[in-house]
Amino acid sequence: MAKATEKRCSFCDRPEKETYILFTGIKGNICDTCIENAGILLQEALGETGKKTNSQASKKEYKLYKPKEIKAFLDQYVIGQDDAKKVLSVAIYNHYKRLVMPAMDEVEIEKSNLIMVGETGTGKTLLAKSIAKLLQVPFAIVDATVFTQAGYVGEDVESILSRLLQACDYDVAAAEKGIIFIDEIDKIGRKSDNPSITRDVSGEGVQQALLKLLEGSDVLVPPQGGRKHPEQKMVKVNTQNILFICGGAFEGIDKMISRRVQTAAIGYHAIKSSKELDRANLLQYVNAQDLRSFGLIPELLGRLPIITYLNPLDREALKRILTEPKNALIKQYTKLFEYEGIELVVEEEALDFMVDKAIEYKLGGRGLRAICEMILTDAMFDIPSQEAKEKSFVLSRSYAQQMLDHSKLSMLHAA
Ligand code: ADP
Repeated sequence: MAKATEKRCSFCDRPEKETYILFTGIKGNICDTCIENAGILLQEALGETGKKTNSQASKKEYKLYKPKEIKAFLDQYVIGQDDAKKVLSVAIYNHYKRLVMPAMDEVEIEKSNLIMVGETGTGKTLLAKSIAKLLQVPFAIVDATVFTQAGYVGEDVESILSRLLQACDYDVAAAEKGIIFIDEIDKIGRKSDNPSITRDVSGEGVQQALLKLLEGSDVLVPPQGGRKHPEQKMVKVNTQNILFICGGAFEGIDKMISRRVQTAAIGYHAIKSSKELDRANLLQYVNAQDLRSFGLIPELLGRLPIITYLNPLDREALKRILTEPKNALIKQYTKLFEYEGIELVVEEEALDFMVDKAIEYKLGGRGLRAICEMILTDAMFDIPSQEAKEKSFVLSRSYAQQMLDHSKLSMLHAA
C-alpha cells in the first residue's frame, strides 16, 4: 500500500527539491533551514553567550514564513477551514514580521491577537497547535473557564503564563515570543448579556484581568502556576510579543448574527444582501458586534482585533479527517499494525460507517479517535500474541459494526 513518496524534511516537511540540502538520518531527514534554526535554539539553550538581548531579537532567529507557506503547512494537518487558515496565516505572518523588523518609524504595528469562532471539535485547537509546531515557538493551551471557577480572578490569570513558561523550561526570552491558545473564551461572557443563566460567577472580572495580558505588559508570574504565594519567587514576563489566539463555540451566536444581518438588510441594499446570505452557515458573518452581544467586553474585543470562523464538519470533512492529514488516524493505526508486520486494510464502507457513527452520536472530529479505538482495540490486543500472524488485517464495515455493537459508544453521546 505504501507508495513511493519524495523525501521530505521530518521537521518542517519541506520536500527535498525546496531545500538547499537535505541530510538523511536513520529514521528521518533534516533540511538546512531546520539545522540553522536548531543551531540558534541550541546556542540559546547553552547559556549566556548564545542569548540575545530582547532588542536584538535577530532576524535569523525566526524564519519568517510567508502566509502561503503557513497555509500550506496547515493544509497538511487540518482539513478544510480555508477562511480561518488564510486569516490565521496572515495574522501570524504580520505578528512575526513585527518581531523581526526593526521599528522603522513611528507607526507601531499592533499585535494580531485573534478569536476563532466555531463549534467544538472543528479544529480550532488543532490550528493553533499546528502553527506553534511550524514556528517552533513555545505553546500553551489554557481553558478560560478555570479562571471563572477559581473566583480569585485578578490573580489567577497570570498562571496562563506559567503554563507557557513550563512549556519551554522556563526560558523567559522564548516564552515572550510564544503563542497562547485560550479555549472557551465564550464561557466568560458578561452575565447580563450571556444566554447562560446557570453560571453564577461573572466572567467580566476575568475579562478585565485578561486585558493586561493581552495588551502587552510586564507581568509577574508564579512559576509553578496557581495563586501567588508570598514565598514564591516571581518571574517577570513581558507579554508584548506573545500571540494570543482565543477560541470558542459561542453557542447560539448564529441567532445574534441573524438578527443583525436581518436588521442591516432592511436598509439600502436590502434585497441584494438578504438573497446572498448563506443561512446554513451564518458564522461566516460573525463580527465584533456579535461577540459583544454575547458578553465579551469592548475593551477585550479591542485587543483581539482579528475574528475568524470555522465551518461545521460535514460527512465529507469527517471522512477526510480519518485518512488525509499527515497524522490522520488511519495512518497512525496503519503504522501501529505495520510494526507488527501486518498490513491494515480499511475498506471504504468501514470509513463511511465510522463517519456515520460520529454524526449519529454528535461526536464531531474529536469522536473519531474514540470510534477507531473501540473498533480496533480487540485486534490490537490479540495480534501481538498471535503465533502465526496473518499478512493483513481487513477492517470491513461488518467487523466495525460488530465491534461497536459491543462497545459503550452510546455513553460518548454528546450531551
Ligand atoms: P476545537 O478546538 O475546535 O474544539 P480540536 O481542534 O481540539 O477542536 O479538534 C479535536 C480533534 O478533532 C483534533 O485533534 C483532530 O483530531 C480532529 N479534527 C477536528 N477538526 C479537524 C479538521 N478540520 N481537520 C483535521 N482534524 C480535525
